[in-house]
Parts: sequence; structure tokens; C-alpha cells
Amino acid sequence: DKTLHIVGGGMAGSEAAWQAARLGVDVVIHEMRPKVETFAHRTGNLAEMVCSNSFRSDDHEQNAVGLLHWEMRQAGSLIMTTAGEHRLPAGGALAVDRDPFSEAVTAKLLALPNVSVSAEEICELPSDGHWIFATGPLTSGTLGKALQEETGAEALAFFDAIAPIVYFDTIDMDTAWLQSRYDKGETEEEQKAYINCPMTKDQYEAFIDALLAAEKTEFHEGETAGYFDGCLPIEVMAERGRETLRHGPMKPIGLTNPHNPEEKAYAVVQLRRDNALGTLYNIVGFQTKMKYGAQTEVFRRIPGLENASFARLGGIHRNTFLNSPTLLDAQMRLRSRPNLRFAGQITGVEGYVESASMGLLAGRMAAAEILGRDLPTVPQDSAHGALIHHITGGAEAKTFQPMNVNFGLFRPLEGLRGGRRGRKDRYKGYTDRAKEVWQDWLAAQEVPA
Ligand code: FAD
Repeated sequence: DKTLHIVGGGMAGSEAAWQAARLGVDVVIHEMRPKVETFAHRTGNLAEMVCSNSFRSDDHEQNAVGLLHWEMRQAGSLIMTTAGEHRLPAGGALAVDRDPFSEAVTAKLLALPNVSVSAEEICELPSDGHWIFATGPLTSGTLGKALQEETGAEALAFFDAIAPIVYFDTIDMDTAWLQSRYDKGETEEEQKAYINCPMTKDQYEAFIDALLAAEKTEFHEGETAGYFDGCLPIEVMAERGRETLRHGPMKPIGLTNPHNPEEKAYAVVQLRRDNALGTLYNIVGFQTKMKYGAQTEVFRRIPGLENASFARLGGIHRNTFLNSPTLLDAQMRLRSRPNLRFAGQITGVEGYVESASMGLLAGRMAAAEILGRDLPTVPQDSAHGALIHHITGGAEAKTFQPMNVNFGLFRPLEGLRGGRRGRKDRYKGYTDRAKEVWQDWLAAQEVPA
């Protein structure tokens, strides 16, 4: 059977359906709404925006998500084209009139002769046929269980616990230093796997005060705060006692500050490498529900992070996602069942645009497979390539958490000396390079008339 079945008609599923159908493949979208509801969706439309109405920055020269917009438009993206048709004024951001947007996405898909929608919940993993699962952060409970049976409990999460991620080149290494606790590790690289930021007693006390005073976000109604002790927000740990953090993620033992070997730090904040490129570091144990503005203010109090730039800020949400680096191959197929492909937020990307972009890739990949065509490898230097490479290989599997697109995922530019070249030039360099390889990739494919 050459039909492509797509489970979930959200951002990713709708885009995947469009891309595959336009290549001539018959598509059935299995969408459980409106029969089965989620706590966030309100309608039965495809591609419903569940919260903010923004696709974030549309700047394709200086912003990674703007670049993703650009690449998707070049690839004839349904989500991007329709968003453009229902754009609301919002400065440099792409804000969208949500109801007309999702109504238009639904109508455009249903107008294709080879697309149909089946209003049903899929509760099991099918053993044959071509499938894309794009069931999103709020994948239904029954399907979640079936998935967990396939992947094992460790490899499918129901909540994320995102610690802030810092660009390595914005950390002040005259204050911070590289060392694993007790110099653990076989190789010198492992013994220097962490970045350490020292605090005096006064700095620690002021930091705890700032954490306690910071503005927090609440869980959405129905999202239920079912997080476990292993991933409590740091501000909740601080509320349990002023010393809790100093005996937890901020303990100073087993570390010696080479900039000041005589003085023992009162507390230490550790950062761990987040990607193979070594461009991103996450602050260990610092998952948080603080508001974004408060996070920047509080985290820049950490010695060594005064000028830190954040690739992403922390958060904790209800979010079903796979440990993609271990479970998926480079084409987003489940290694244990290659007839099942995944797309969207369930693969560990985060956000409307990122989810739709992974749908775009999954749709093209599935179509190529069904039509018996070769699909050239997605170029790693494009925004799509940087994201898919991160989730299927570049990210640390052990600490894998959902990721937004950002320039830290891109391979450094050649001919760049240290961090000296201006950031603006660097970002322009990334986006120029990405556009070129993306256009080459598109040109190398057989496109529909
Ligand atoms: P979705 O768009 O959620 O689509 C998944 C679809 O699968 C849904 O239509 C669902 O009904 C269906 N489905 C689930 N299980 C089954 C099943 N078993 N059978 C059949 N159908 C099924 N991102 C942002 O960029 N900005 C935000 O402000 C933002 N706010 C968010 C707020 C909340 C409360 C949540 C949960 C997420 C938020 N996100 C936000 C993330 C956003 O939801 C996703 O990035 C995006 O919608 C994910 O796209 P997707 O296609 O992977 O999943």
C-alpha cells in the first residue's frame, strides 16, 4: 500500500501532508480532535495554534527562526505561506490571525484530491504501512502508553525540564574554569567536561534572594504539576531551604578554582556541554518556571555569566517527547520499527515553526521512500539541517531536552578567528551559507509541476 498515514493534524502533520501530497502521494491524516480533546486545543481545525499567536522573528539575516521561515517558504511550505496570508502587524515578528489561519490550512489540505482526514484517535503502533506520527506535546494518553512500551520508560518523557542554555563564547573564562567534579573521567577531555562558576557566601545569599523574589509562571489549567523530585525547579528547591541548592546542584565539593586556588568557593554553578560542537552549555539542574525576563536577570548574577547570551531559557511543561538521539535514525524513523517516522514537537524540537519544519522534512522523506526516489541528505548548514542533525545525532542523549532553532546548533564558519568577528557578521555568514545549501538541496529534488 502506497498511502501515507499521518497521525496528528497539527503544525507538523499538516505540513507533512502538504509536502507529500504535492509530490503525488495519497495521504490520510488521522486526527483525534474534535472527538478527543486536549487541554490546550479549542477547535477541530488542523494546525491550531494553542497559545501565543506568534511565529517569532521573521528576520532571515540575523535570526535563526527567521531563517527557518525563509527556508520553509522556499520549499513551498503550507504553514508559512498561509501564515503570511493571515499576518497581523507585529514589527519584526510574524504574528498570525489564528482562527482564519487554521481554517485556511484545513481548507487547502481538504481541497487536494489526494488528501483526506479521518477523525479518529490512533491508539496503537501499526506494524505495516507508511506512517508519520506527529501527535505533538499532548499526544493522547493511550498512544503515549503504546509508545512507551515500544521505547522503554526512560526514552519517552511526559514533561520537559529545560535548563537554560548558554552560548559558550559568552562565558567569561577568566572567572569560570573547566573541571569535572573530582576530576572524574578517563580522558583529559572528560576531566574538563564541565564549566564551573564560583560564588562567595555573599554572592550565594544574594542569588537565593533573587531566586525567591523572581516572577514565576504557572502551569496551564489542566497541565497538572506532576513533576518529580529529580527535576524540581531551582526556585522550588530554594524555597525548601536556603542551603538546599548548596547541597544540591550548587555544591562546591571536588572542585578547585585555578584562578584562586587558595579560596574555597562557597557554592559553584556547573554548566555541561550540550552539543557535540561544544558551542552550547546548559546550566546543570537549573530547570525553572521563572519568567524569561527574570531568568536573564537572575542568571547573569552568576560570576562568569554576567554577559551570557542564552540560546534558550529554562522551562517545565507538559510535553511528550522521544529521546530522539537514541531512538530515531537520520531520517526520523524509529530504529526498532522503520515503517514509523516521527515529526514535530514529539521529536524534541520546540515551537510552532520548528515543529512544522520537521513536518516538512518528514513529508518529503516519506514521499521519496514511497515513490522510490533518492532524497539527498538534508544539508547540515541549513536551519532545517542544523535542527534535524541536533535531534538525531548532535545532542547529548543522556540529558536530551527539547530545543528551539538557534545559531549555536550551526557549525562554526571557517575563517572565523575566535569570537572576535562581530556577532552581526557571524549571523549574516550563517544565514548566507544556509540559504545557498538549502537552495541547492531543493534544486536537487524532483519537484511537482
Ligand atoms: P500539535 O500542533 O499539538 O499537533 C498534534 C496533533 O495530534 C493535535 O492536533 C492532536 O489533537 C493530535 N493527536 C494527539 N494524539 C493523537 C492520537 N493518538 N491520534 C490522533 N491524533 C492525535 N509553541 C510556540 O511556538 N509558541 C507558543 O506560545 C506555544 N505555546 C504552547 C502552549 C502549550 C500549552 C503547549 C502544550 C504547547 C505550546 N507550544 C508553543 C508548543 C506547540 O504546541 C508546538 O510547538 C506545536 O503545536 C507542535 O506542533 P506538533 O505538530 O508537533 O503538535
